[in-house]
Amino acid sequence: MRVLLIYPLFPKSFWSFEKTLALINRKALLPPLGLITVAAILPQEWEFKLVDRNVRQIAESEWNWAELVIISGMIVQKEDLLAQIQEAKRRGKPVAVGGPYSTSLPHEVQDADYLVLDEGEITLPMFVEALERGESSGTFRTTEKPSVTETPIPRYDLLEFDAYDNMSIQFSRGCPFQCEFCDIIILYGRKSRTKTPVQLIGELEHLYNLGWRGSVFMVDDNFIGNKRNVKLLLKELKVWMEQKNYPFSFTTEASVDLAQDAELMELMVDCNFTVVFLGIETPDSDSLTLTKKFQNTRDPLSESIDKITRAGLRVMAGFILGFDGESTGAGDRLVQFVEQTDIPIAMLSMLQALPNTALWHRLEKEERLYERNSNGNQTTLMNFVPTRSLEEIAHEYVDAFWRLYEPEKYLDRTLRHFMKLGNPRHSKGIQPRWKVIRALLLLCWRQGVLPKSRWKFWSNLGKMLRHNPRSVDRYLTVCAYLEHFTEYRQLVREHINTQLALYLASRAQTSIPSTSKV
Ligand code: SF4
Repeated sequence: MRVLLIYPLFPKSFWSFEKTLALINRKALLPPLGLITVAAILPQEWEFKLVDRNVRQIAESEWNWAELVIISGMIVQKEDLLAQIQEAKRRGKPVAVGGPYSTSLPHEVQDADYLVLDEGEITLPMFVEALERGESSGTFRTTEKPSVTETPIPRYDLLEFDAYDNMSIQFSRGCPFQCEFCDIIILYGRKSRTKTPVQLIGELEHLYNLGWRGSVFMVDDNFIGNKRNVKLLLKELKVWMEQKNYPFSFTTEASVDLAQDAELMELMVDCNFTVVFLGIETPDSDSLTLTKKFQNTRDPLSESIDKITRAGLRVMAGFILGFDGESTGAGDRLVQFVEQTDIPIAMLSMLQALPNTALWHRLEKEERLYERNSNGNQTTLMNFVPTRSLEEIAHEYVDAFWRLYEPEKYLDRTLRHFMKLGNPRHSKGIQPRWKVIRALLLLCWRQGVLPKSRWKFWSNLGKMLRHNPRSVDRYLTVCAYLEHFTEYRQLVREHINTQLALYLASRAQTSIPSTSKV
């Protein structure tokens, strides 16, 4: 069987970083780990080609070559995913779909021939058996959450390595917490299922042998969901990293209770984890309690962030506006919190109800969902009736986004953050390669010559060189993200204002309630 694996396009989003990636000649931040895992689970006598549409177009010869097309993606990719199903059908190719979007909203992908949903370790063998029986369509589902200890090494060999800034790897699936808006616990359950240390290190060894060096994103939704197993992994990983002379640096996502475990933070830094994304959501403790994010209410959040930063992990954080019961000024409080805690990169979204989450079901019962769809993008209005005016939330959102990415404020926050971080344990410093030198020159031109904030750029860089010289490469990487955010905040403002105008016009003509009394 000749299989064409297609990864759909992402729209411009907080994470797309086009301008920043262009500085280093890369096309995409992360590769499609799900699809290369699918390729590893399917029969290995099959032939595979993979096209990530964020990297390049599909060649005519690749369409002609394919006997079967497999497409997988997230909700945010749905527009292109649906278009690729139609494209394959137009060419008379059988199409199978899977991944988070198809699993959450299977009725939207009914044009595909095969719906291979939930977790592939169980449903892919069911799909293969159906093909062997000669079946031309089918839906394959399971409620079982498989162990991931038997999951084979993803087919990294199918990737065009040069296109990506990071490689992806997964240690665990699932999260023990119960945040009301989260779809991870719906898709993967509340038990954190981990790989074994030998298995994960085997995957890293494989990446190493294929020639990858540099950043690796541990894509677990909560890397520390099973602290015991994570520590077992890190103790072995520490030895491997030392033996290999630290070929990788890791980024991951974790819950804020990481701050309560000094041993865990120490082990992570020892293994060259350098960045951690935290779901902070809001500094308003009433909203955290209401959304069942209890783990963020145990210690003062600002102290937790301070502890994690001072342990040596650069913090990125996610924030949400629009929780039920939220009072006027939540946007201001959020900006103030980010400034006080010196978090350089803060991802801000308006709350959206994702399919099948506890939030979705509650709002459905309360008849507050505007439409059945959400798209998971930061340039989209909320998809339900909030408890305060949507207009007010949207204005606060646009204003907060704009202020967070004021160039001078961003550069100052970044400097303060790096001063707290201190010197890195395993930095290799700036690599004198042409790609790096070119990126540096471009960055200095764009931030140190052209904009009004150029004096801030040079003065902060001077302070970094004096006080924290071994972190300058990492500091400049964070400065480079500003290229993306100054452009993206414009897009957020335009899109939200346009949608708000449409919403207000339609509200004037219908009886859509502006707020919910619930
Ligand atoms: S901590 Fe993160 S992954 Fe876990 S339930 Fe909450 S939002 Fe989801």
